[in-house]
This record gives sequence, C-alpha cells and structure tokens, in this order.
Amino acid sequence: MKIFLDGKYVEEADAKVSVFDHGLLYGDGIFEGIRVYNGRIFRLDEHLDRLFASGKAILLSVPMSKAALVEACRETCRLNGIKDGYIRLVVTRGVGYLGLSPFKCKSPTVFIIAATIELYPEEVYRNGLKLITAATIRTNPAAMSPAVKSLNYLNNIMAKIEAINAGTVEALMLNDAGHVAECSGDNVFIVRGGKLETPPSSAGSLNGITRGAVIELAGKLGIPVSEPNLTRYDVMTADECFLTGTAAEIVPVATLDGRTIGTGKPGALTLKLIEEFRKLTRVEGTPI
Ligand code: PMP
Repeated sequence: MKIFLDGKYVEEADAKVSVFDHGLLYGDGIFEGIRVYNGRIFRLDEHLDRLFASGKAILLSVPMSKAALVEACRETCRLNGIKDGYIRLVVTRGVGYLGLSPFKCKSPTVFIIAATIELYPEEVYRNGLKLITAATIRTNPAAMSPAVKSLNYLNNIMAKIEAINAGTVEALMLNDAGHVAECSGDNVFIVRGGKLETPPSSAGSLNGITRGAVIELAGKLGIPVSEPNLTRYDVMTADECFLTGTAAEIVPVATLDGRTIGTGKPGALTLKLIEEFRKLTRVEGTPI
C-alpha cells in the first residue's frame, strides 16, 4: 500500500511520523474520513472545506492548497487501485518539543491513506441497531467544539467502549443539558409525524457531511427537516430513528436502552432515504 506523506508517496512500512509529532503527543491535529464510491470521491470539496474550517478553529494552517489536496487524494486512490473505499486525510501540528506550545512545531505533517472500509455488520442494516445512551456526556462546545474534527477522540472512544461493553456498536451521547448531541461517530435523526428532526450543531455535534446530504435529499423529497433540541424521550417515542456517517452511511435504529422505536424495524422513510442516498453515491463525486 502506498501512503501520501508530506508530499511523497511512500510504502506503508516507510510511512512513519516522529514520536515528537504533536498529533501523537497531544492529539493536536485534524482529520477527515472520506468515501470513494464507484471511482468517485464523495463530497470531497465539502470534506476539504470542513478540514480547513477545523484548521482555522485550532490555528493550524493546512500546508497544502485545496487543489493540491484534491490531487493527492485522487493519486493515493489511483496508486492503490481504490475504486470503492475510504480515504483518511490527516493533518497534525507536526514535530515539536515536549511542551504544549504549538508555535514551536515548524511544519504540519500531512498524510493520506486510501483503503477499504468495514461497515457495521449487515444485520444492523437489516434489523436496526440497538442503541444505548452513554453515561459519558459529549464535550461541551465551550470547552472544545465538537464541530472541529480533531485528533482528540477520547470523549467519543469512552462512549464507544460503553456501547461495546453493552453488546452493541454505537452509543447516543447527550450534552451537559441532557439534550441529544450525536453518537460516538455518527449523527442522529428521528422521524416524527412524517418530518425529520436532528439536533442542531450547537447541541454539540459534528456538522456531518452525510447529515448534510440527508437534509438535502429530504428537501428534494419534500420532507420537512428541523433542528430542535432533542431528549432521550423524543428518540424513544419517535416513529423512526437512524444514524448517519461517512463510514456507516444511513443506519436504522431499532431500540434505545431497550425501548423499541416505532415498529422496531427499519422505517419507511429511513428505507427511502437509504435508497436515495445509495443512488446519490453512485453518480456524484470527484473522479479519481
Ligand atoms: N459525529 C462524529 C463524532 C463523527 O466522528 C462523525 C464521522 N465519523 C460523524 C458525526 C458523521 O460525520 P460525517 O457524515 O461527515 O462522516
């Protein structure tokens, strides 16, 4: 496998970063997870816009232009023969000293991996996911905005551990006001009375690219979408619930903490959105 690393395409065994890289020492960096469908990179522009916005928020200047990053993503896919897969684009603060200051890190490290991807088990898409509520609350946006897709994923990982320990794959995360923020690695939607609802970014969620695509599709289908604060009660009593994410795509949710949501099977609107999303991924995107 060839990896893009700081301007060069190197073998996997040579794709190494320094132990003094602040991405490793402090989780100081940003990333994107991007899908490749049918030889096209899905919503690459939007991912790069979010990457640059994440960089701006943490005062990390991405050392490549958007055009150069597009080309590097395409070339990494081409070199590895990836037509359907997943791109991980990472920008770290770079090599520095043993101290927090990012200002002593001279140049950010950029690497791109293009590989295949593992979705949730097929059974989850067929029967719906069993969601639990994590005891770990989502990071308060005033502490560190969850809108920044940073290399600090420990908050999410604590929730993921709770999910796995409970025998499932994903956990709902609330914010410190008790409102639904998102899941450990996915955004969340509910369907109520034929309308879609998803928490606002201000509740502490990532501005998901898949979330955006679903909102767009709903608009085209004439389904109203709103972004109110939601509680566990709203999810438990919803007609349908599903999660969205680049890796997961659209995942029906069957239960929350043992309460059946709707019929307990993937709902009609969820299935319609899955169908429309699949159509979109087949035709849209930057050719590799
Ligand atoms: N929330 C979190 C915390 C995430 O890590 C992700 C991405 N895996 C998402 C939401 C979904 O965002 P996207 O649709 O852009 O992948």
